[in-house]
Amino acid sequence: LKSLLSDPTLLEMRAFVGGEWVNADDGATFEVRNPARGDLIAQVADLGRAETARAIDAAENARHAWAARTGKERANILRKWFDLMMANQEDLALILTAEMGKPLAEARGEIAYGASFVEWFAEEAKRVYGETIPGHQPDKRITVIRQPIGVAASITPWNFPNAMIARKVAPALAVGCGFVARPAAETPLSALAMAVLAERAGVPKGVLSVIPSSRASDIGKEFCENPIVRKLTFTGSTEVGRILLRQSADQVMKCSMELGGNAPFIVFDDADLDAAVQGTLMSKYRNNGQTCVCANRIYVQAGVYDAFAEKLKTAVEKLRVGDGLSDDSELGPLINEEAVTKVEDHISDIVAHGGKVLTGGRRHGNGGTFFEPTIVTGVTQKMKVAQEETFGPLAPLFKFDTEEQVIGYANDTIFGLAAYFYARDIGRITRVQEALEYGIVGVNTGIISTEVAPFGGVKQSGLGREGSSHGTDDYLEMKYICLSV
Ligand code: ADP
Repeated sequence: LKSLLSDPTLLEMRAFVGGEWVNADDGATFEVRNPARGDLIAQVADLGRAETARAIDAAENARHAWAARTGKERANILRKWFDLMMANQEDLALILTAEMGKPLAEARGEIAYGASFVEWFAEEAKRVYGETIPGHQPDKRITVIRQPIGVAASITPWNFPNAMIARKVAPALAVGCGFVARPAAETPLSALAMAVLAERAGVPKGVLSVIPSSRASDIGKEFCENPIVRKLTFTGSTEVGRILLRQSADQVMKCSMELGGNAPFIVFDDADLDAAVQGTLMSKYRNNGQTCVCANRIYVQAGVYDAFAEKLKTAVEKLRVGDGLSDDSELGPLINEEAVTKVEDHISDIVAHGGKVLTGGRRHGNGGTFFEPTIVTGVTQKMKVAQEETFGPLAPLFKFDTEEQVIGYANDTIFGLAAYFYARDIGRITRVQEALEYGIVGVNTGIISTEVAPFGGVKQSGLGREGSSHGTDDYLEMKYICLSV
């Protein structure tokens, strides 16, 4: 991997603790492997609670001077970080693809997407506005100021090794917090490379630490039990989110949770079918189905069901599966064997209950964790895929008759992250967008991610929003000041 990079110093395997590049206290390391070929690409420092506590102390010591700078000074440093990420986009993308498997084109896109949050929040650093409120008595003047919450800690997954961290660390640093990140053990290299660039951009020593560790629950406990940490921001499964919420209750810690989804994707009979097919390809097969906003259940109205299935089949059969590092691959491998087993389990459950495989359905000839992009028809609400996120390249097509019926199906889940639908009738569009119990709704589009909009879920998909002008709220506390004149 090193030989592919134009700047090999971006491939860092030590941890970044309190502004120093360090090994684990006990010298332990863990392996990072390329999911496409299974080969070892790095041995990374494997940190524990003691090093994490030191990072938290360093963040606490550094954050006051950081917060005391003007918003513009912090903005300039973040802007420089953004520029460095974009200047090193190709290397960052190579590192990302090597550890995570997604095709290089998507990895480049992710670097630009992650960097866009750094750019956006650099701009927002200057706009942490307060309020004045007319006094409740003649001698009273009321002001509200917003101040950084303190030290924030993040736990993030492997599916977007850069962007999931970027959209947490950028608002935190913008408003003057200290930050300690624990990336997923599958993908620590992208996070460490971001830290190399943060240091070069001039983020002061201690403000940011990155803690690679194979022992997620130990680090999670330190984050939740250390009284200095005032904010935990997590992206991952609802199961782990619940554990962290319970653990953080003792410190009454503020939590942001970006948890699982089970996105419905609805195609009404007045939809532009070709556009709906394109939207499905983007929403379902991006990152090989491994995103929390990926379409998980595709509901197609009876009148267009067969036509849609046929068009989607034609498009899916053209998708090229291969090693992400080779430039013509459109779908990479799945992250690990467990992920493949989950896709197989959903397919066999569908088939056992009367569904049919229209295309794909098996492990791909490339071997390893490659899987054929798959479409299954005749899927119903009784099957597993109706309730569980597949997180793989499986498009299950459900048939429905009426608008009312499909809204019932779509909302019949504990999750509420993203939903999509294709329709033309304006009355229908208005009714359906309002009726869907989701934090994000894509209408006639399969791609909704952007730094300028608030990303987040309702119900058991999470707490808080990332991105947009609301994205700094989770890292700020309000202070109401009552002045008697
Ligand atoms: P995913 O299926 O996307 O990996 P998880 O919720 O299992 O979702 O993992 C998300 C992140 O949370 C990963 O970095 C993982 O290592 C971490 N994690 C898993 N279990 C715990 C835990 N008990 N405490 C803290 N972090 C955890």
